Amino acid sequence: MKLYLASGNAHKAAEFAELARRSGLAVEIKSARAVGGMPEVVEDTGTFAGNAAKKARALRHLVPPEAWVLADDSGVCVDALGGEPGVESAYYAGPQHDAAANLRKLVEVMRGVPADRRGAQFVCVLVLLGPDGREQVFEGRCEGVLLEEPRGGAGFGYDPIFQPAGHALSYAELGDTVKSRISHRALAWAKLAEAISCFMGSRTAQTRLPNR
Ligand code: IMP
Repeated sequence: MKLYLASGNAHKAAEFAELARRSGLAVEIKSARAVGGMPEVVEDTGTFAGNAAKKARALRHLVPPEAWVLADDSGVCVDALGGEPGVESAYYAGPQHDAAANLRKLVEVMRGVPADRRGAQFVCVLVLLGPDGREQVFEGRCEGVLLEEPRGGAGFGYDPIFQPAGHALSYAELGDTVKSRISHRALAWAKLAEAISCFMGSRTAQTRLPNR
């Protein structure tokens, strides 16, 4: 099964490639670059699921008819900020989509907030769009806390200030191998992988049915 990724984010693409490899599914992750690049999408629906569906539909007409499309919309929701930046995570410091500026802004906004009010969740919503136009939605959440200062060099975005529950290190310190087991994206992927494996299983079973 060919799965085109409706994203221009190279970090996300690498994470999905790793998740697909570890899941052992016969899924080939293809970059939007292979079909001319991810079209510009205005992320204005106000929800992760709405934005992910918009991205998936924007790529649908560029990929081969038998291919599938996978779109992700994700962000960090901070309890003390009423869930912000949430769907606005990519544009928190302005429309220029500057990851370093977004990170700096969140560090500053959270400066002085006591440890017991630093709870946050990373959220990932995946939309899987099939060749027949059917859309399936999968959500993953990773609970944790925001650190006072960025730590670690791996990953992207807000990884250096997010410490997942049950760990003493930030996403950026834990690195890709651990992140690909515990992250919001990994949890959403696990649900999607189950759906894909059911679909593939049922297709294999159908092709084994004797002709009547
Ligand atoms: P999207 O590409 O429109 O879904 O925007 C997602 C934004 O949320 C990214 O630009 C990052 O700022 C943030 N984000 C989502 N997932 C992660 C992650 O795994 N680590 C760090 N930041 C993330």
